[in-house]
Formats: sequence, structure tokens, C-alpha cells
Amino acid sequence: PAMLNNLQQQPADALLALIKLHNSDPRADKIDLGVGVYRTGDGETPVFGAIKAAEKKLVETQDSKAYLGPEGDMGFVEALMPYVFGQANPTQDGRIEGMQTPGGTGSLRLAIAMAKRAGVTRLIVGKPSWPNHNQICADLGLEVFEFGHANADGKTDMDAVRGAIAQAQPGDAILLHGCCHNPTGIDYSNAEWDEIAGLIADKGILPIIDLAYQGLGNGMEEDAYGLRRVIASVPEAIVCYSCDKNFGLYRDRVGALYVLAAEKDGLPKIMSNAHALARANWSQPPDHGGAAVRLILEDEALTKQWLAELDDMRDRMRLMREKLAAAGKTGGVDLTPIGGQNGLFSIIPFTPEQVQAMRDKHGVYFAGSGRINVAGLTEGNIEKFIAAVADVTA
Ligand code: PLP
Repeated sequence: PAMLNNLQQQPADALLALIKLHNSDPRADKIDLGVGVYRTGDGETPVFGAIKAAEKKLVETQDSKAYLGPEGDMGFVEALMPYVFGQANPTQDGRIEGMQTPGGTGSLRLAIAMAKRAGVTRLIVGKPSWPNHNQICADLGLEVFEFGHANADGKTDMDAVRGAIAQAQPGDAILLHGCCHNPTGIDYSNAEWDEIAGLIADKGILPIIDLAYQGLGNGMEEDAYGLRRVIASVPEAIVCYSCDKNFGLYRDRVGALYVLAAEKDGLPKIMSNAHALARANWSQPPDHGGAAVRLILEDEALTKQWLAELDDMRDRMRLMREKLAAAGKTGGVDLTPIGGQNGLFSIIPFTPEQVQAMRDKHGVYFAGSGRINVAGLTEGNIEKFIAAVADVTA
């Protein structure tokens, strides 16, 4: 019997389909705001200069490709910790330990699987979220409890998050985007993080913080505020980190999982579960990208170069956001809130017909949700984009 024939057709990835549509559009002035990678003012997604230099060094100095173990390159994992948890106390007195994972996705998969092993049955997630959060929960058989992430005015919905935490039950964990919320770009303010950290601590639920865009919002330190605030307030937490955006390593799959344990002595037991789950999933993370990041972080000049490249990316996205905000009320939508949002993404409340008109009439491509990648905008195309928005929403 043909067992595999029993499988049901799965929907195609909408963003990949969008790339195909964009590629087949012959118009020279078409604009791609779909796929979630950074782009320069020339529309490129280049390899960071600091990464190129580190890769060169890696090729010259690496003397073995023997297995490292399920935890990957611990030099990489530890070198990153002061950036994530702060220079002052990066291990929180020995209560934090980490391991390397295949990207932020691998880290999330591991975090949610480990939470499930520990007895978590439900994940509280803001809506909308990055779709893979729900997909991982569905695959692992974890229930998802959704609350509204943002209001129509482009601000966070604090009442919704307060309500969700108030209703939390034993066995719940809560997933929060550390910064640069995907897909809305709408982040909690520092005061809101202070409150959320307190609510989570009072309720005693397990926080899982997804930090996939550190440095792309307001700066490396600024973007870690919420995470550090939560870490300082709770006994236990999991952090899922991605280096794929802030080092431009996307396809090399570089990430880390960090666990804050209630007591230092509890860490080996917890990490043994993380390692066992890694072995059962991918055995060991890919080495190359993590090793390149380690070489950057171990070298003062390369670190400076990397941070300068990251600053340029952030500044360019800020500039595009300011230009959108300056357009203010445009046709039937107000672009002002986009100026105060963070990271690669924002949502413009287009109707499905307007999304289609942006494509057909103006050659502007982005997801059906109205999520735009602001890094797809440039000095050369932003005026055209704003005019197109005015036209289709008029
Ligand atoms: N978390 C969020 C919110 C994301 O947007 C992404 C990537 O788009 C990830 C995690 C995973 O990143 P990666 O697996 O590419 O490192």
C-alpha cells in the first residue's frame, strides 16, 4: 500500500509564492516588500563585511570539522551572552546556560518541546504573530491561547496582555517578542515591559522570549530591555535567539537557546533535556555561521565593524520609517504610526482588494496581511510607494 499517498496536500508558503509573482512581473519599477530579509538602499542583501572577514579567518585557522556535540560551539554561545543579558551579570550568577541551535526556529522548536516535557500544555501568544509560533505548537500538540497584540491605532493592546496573563492557568507558558515584533513592528515600551515582567512573575507562568532582531530596532542594548527586565523578575525563563538577521546569516542558520533556572544547581538537569531533544531533532547545529559570529565577538576590531554595519541597517530602516510617517494621512490610511514602530515590518490595514490593486496596478508586492518589509523601500522607490498607497486606499 502506498502509505505516503495518504498525506494531504499542504498550502504553499505564501511569501515564497509572492517571490515568484514578483519575479515574473516585467515592470522595471516593481517593488518587493514581501520576503523578510534586510535590503540596502540598492536593494541588495549583502554578506556583512565583518562576516566575510571572520569567514576568511575561519577557513585559514579551522583545523578540524569533528563533531562538537548537541550544544554546538559553546564559545559562540557564551560570547553572545553579554549582549543578550548585559555586561554586568551575563549569567545571572550562574543561573543562565545556553546552547547553539539551527537558527531562531531551531531554538523555538527546542524551547517549546522542552516546555512541553516539563508539563506546559498551553502557550499564550499575541495575535498576529510570526506564523511558525503556531505551527510549532500545532506540530507538538500544544494548545495556543491568543490575545490581541495591537490596537487599530498602531499601539500595543496592554489590556489584552493583562487579561491574558490574568486568565493564565497552571501549565501555561507565554511567548513574547523581545523586540521588532513580526509582523506588526509594534513593541512594548519600557514601562509596559516593567508591568508585564511583574505580571508574569506574580502569576508564575513560564516566559519564552523570542529575540530574533536584536539591534534592528533601537540598538543592541535598547532592544534587550524587555528581555532583561523579565529575566530579572522571574525564577525561570527561556530565551530563543537568532543571529540570522543581526549578522545577516539567514541561510547559515545561527541561533541559540538560553535557559534561566530557578537555581544554579537545576541547570545541568534542564540542559540535559535540551541536549537530548537536540539529538533527537538535528543531532548538532550547523557550525559555520556560529563559528563566524564567535570570531567576530572575540575580536575587538571585527566587533566594531559588525556593530557599525548593524547601525547602518537600523539607521536606513529608521529613515524609511520617518519618511512614511511624514506622509501622514495617505489616501484612506494613516502612515504616522509606522515612524514609532521597530524593525523590518509594519502592517498597513489594506483590504484584500487593495493588496491586489497594489500588485496589479502598481507592481508593489507584500503579504496579504498588509505586512510590509520597510527595508524593501529605498530613496528611489518610497515616493512611488506612498503615491500607490494614496491611490489604492483613496
Ligand atoms: N522569530 C521571529 C519573530 C522571526 O520573525 C523569525 C524569522 O523570521 C524567527 C524567530 C526565526 O529566525 P531564523 O530561524 O531564521 O533564525
